[in-house]
Amino acid sequence: MTHSIPTVLDADLCAGCGGCAAVAPDAVTMGLSDKGYARPEFSKSLRPSQKQSLKKICPSVRQSCDPDGRTINPVWGPFVTCETGFSTDETLRKKAASGGALSGFAISLLESQEVDGVIHIKADPSNPLANVTSVSTNAEEVLAAAGSRYAPSSPLDILNTLKGDGRRYAFIGKPCDVSALRSLRKLDSDVADMVPVLISFFCAGVPSLHSSQDILEKLDVLPDRVLRFQHRGEGWPGLATAVLDNGKQHTMSYSQSWGNILSKTVQQRCKLCADGSGVFADVVFADAWETDAQGYPSFDDRPGQSLILCRTDLGRRLVDAAVAAGHLSAAPYEVNELTRIQPGQTRRRRVLAARLAALRVLGRPVPQYRGMGVWTMARQASFTEILRNFGGMLRRALRPSVKEEGGQC
Ligand SMILES: Cc1cc2nc3c(=O)[nH]c(=O)nc-3n(C[C@H](O)[C@H](O)[C@H](O)COP(=O)(O)OP(=O)(O)OC[C@H]3O[C@@H](n4cnc5c(N)ncnc54)[C@H](O)[C@@H]3O)c2cc1C
Repeated sequence: MTHSIPTVLDADLCAGCGGCAAVAPDAVTMGLSDKGYARPEFSKSLRPSQKQSLKKICPSVRQSCDPDGRTINPVWGPFVTCETGFSTDETLRKKAASGGALSGFAISLLESQEVDGVIHIKADPSNPLANVTSVSTNAEEVLAAAGSRYAPSSPLDILNTLKGDGRRYAFIGKPCDVSALRSLRKLDSDVADMVPVLISFFCAGVPSLHSSQDILEKLDVLPDRVLRFQHRGEGWPGLATAVLDNGKQHTMSYSQSWGNILSKTVQQRCKLCADGSGVFADVVFADAWETDAQGYPSFDDRPGQSLILCRTDLGRRLVDAAVAAGHLSAAPYEVNELTRIQPGQTRRRRVLAARLAALRVLGRPVPQYRGMGVWTMARQASFTEILRNFGGMLRRALRPSVKEEGGQC
């Protein structure tokens, strides 16, 4: 039996994708919880049909991946081709998170008129640490939103406002956002026609917005002096940078900002994620890190390289078009090499079954995963990894926690 949205919220399983606001715009807006995560806020009870739809799209209720005749890699899921590459626009390549391939691809979709707009997030003009969903219709707007923002985002929250405008959009979101949208497309043919292209990126989890404030504190910067804030970019991986009202810049390295601060506040749902690599997208982008002498990813600054994983034939056709039009440079990459350069993603996949088992033992709800390789990956975990993660999740679940405010639904 699948659980309901109140259960998802009570069990702290919400990913904050904004799917609730897409399905029930009359009753739900997305807000920020006390702990600094994006969460639905309910102004009234949902109708039974809305509750049914939400159960079908919520990535914390159920995710089911169909191979559809594609090659399945046990770690990285179904795919058609695997490449590395970068945007041929030097400015974009430098500003972007890795090689700017994602934004270069989005620009290609706009310029070839494959779509009329790109739905994605950018810095919130009223709070430079936070994110807001926006629509870009030209290269300048896509460039302005390039870069990874390690803060909560709910890109599905805009869908309802775009319905019926007769335009076609590409959607860029976290793997959980894309999962919700692919399911919503099956329920709503208007949404399916409106958003024909789904784009994602590898995701290690969403940190609390409060941890971006912690970065400012460590940099000795007052939040109301900050004009612009970026979590990385202007190099690969680049620096977390706060630009102040007097033009001064305060920076912190990626290993300090992500490693010591942001990664420590990743929300609970992300620790139980079976899809850090965007299996429901047409094309997925990631950091194609180089490795050091020990084979581990090296975060030394260098010209950015993105991984480009086409998961559907549509994705492949559109990447081919972007390369042919001169927006992207791409070269083949051996998919099994990814395990070496993305050790965090691989580890989380291996230990997931142990974490889920700990919650099940306590009778707690967990997302239902079908075709996501959870048990195949568990067989690769060592006994120590299983014990440590089973015990760690048990301890975390039994810890008394302050309940977050939530509305009724
Ligand atoms: C929270 C988070 C965790 C990540 N974890 C990993 C990881 O474990 N391994 C890995 O290889 N890569 C990870 N990435 C992805 C990586 O940082 C790059 O996005 C990816 O390499 C593509 O880079 P690019 O230069 O091609 O993209 P760019 O050209 O810089 O484009 C980035 C796009 O992502 C969108 N975006 C940025 N932040 C968010 C957000 N919070 N929510 C929704 N959309 C957003 C922007 O709107 C923009 O369209 C993560 C990104 C985020 C936001």
